[in-house]
Amino acid sequence: MQISMDDLELPCWDCKGSGEVTSEEGTLVTCDKCSGTGVILTTLGQTLLSFMKKHLRQ
Ligand SMILES: [Zn+2]
Repeated sequence: MQISMDDLELPCWDCKGSGEVTSEEGTLVTCDKCSGTGVILTTLGQTLLSFMKKHLRQ
């Protein structure tokens, strides 16, 4: 099974991947949708991330 990055995350459609959106006041604020990361995790991405977090001890 091959997994590409597109299967794990998609560019945020709210901020177009920049991580910031223009607020009503015209200032740049962190994008709520992606928490400023610029990408949205797919279901597969979330599954993989929770798996990694579960098994990775920091
Ligand atoms: Zn965003």
